[in-house]
Amino acid sequence: MRFEAVLGDITLQQVDAIVNAANSTLFGGGGVDGAIHRAGGPEILAACRALRETVYPDGLPTGDAVATTAGLLSAEHVIHTVGPVWSSLEDRTPLLAGAYARSLAVAGEVGAASIAFPAVSAGVYGWPMDDAARIAVATTLRNAPAVPGLGIVRYVLFSERALDAFSGMLSDATL
Ligand code: ADP
Repeated sequence: MRFEAVLGDITLQQVDAIVNAANSTLFGGGGVDGAIHRAGGPEILAACRALRETVYPDGLPTGDAVATTAGLLSAEHVIHTVGPVWSSLEDRTPLLAGAYARSLAVAGEVGAASIAFPAVSAGVYGWPMDDAARIAVATTLRNAPAVPGLGIVRYVLFSERALDAFSGMLSDATL
């Protein structure tokens, strides 16, 4: 299994599944969520609305994940996950780890051989980048090998700062 950290735009990745740092409404938002819906077209939002009407009337819970079509993107699936908002008062690490673990489980369910993650919760949701990277890398290293058929886990980072955090964690962990 290959783990790699790259600088780039997740919407352009040639992988089977890309993960969206969505919010509970599944109706789109800013950051990576907005970029995915813009690039993937209205089919993704239509699929999200259908999920809200059927499986998730109250929204997708924080730490959970669900797959939809990827619309016009080169990926086959978008796996929407909801990371926790950062809190200095409460340790929400299990929820952020859960978002990665559930996304990997869903990747297994849809039969993805490759998956790309953004830095979930590390944008508008305010999670400090180094800690977000630590949780992301630890959780994916622990969980990805158990996902049948999965061979590539890529972290797609949107800044040099984020890339440094993720590649640092990855090289520490795999030394
Ligand atoms: P959250 O609300 O979970 O914090 P954001 O979308 O605000 O989600 O940010 C998550 C991370 O995704 C941030 O580090 C942000 O810079 C990054 N990001 C934004 N657009 C893209 C993109 N097109 N590809 C990859 N990462 C992106």
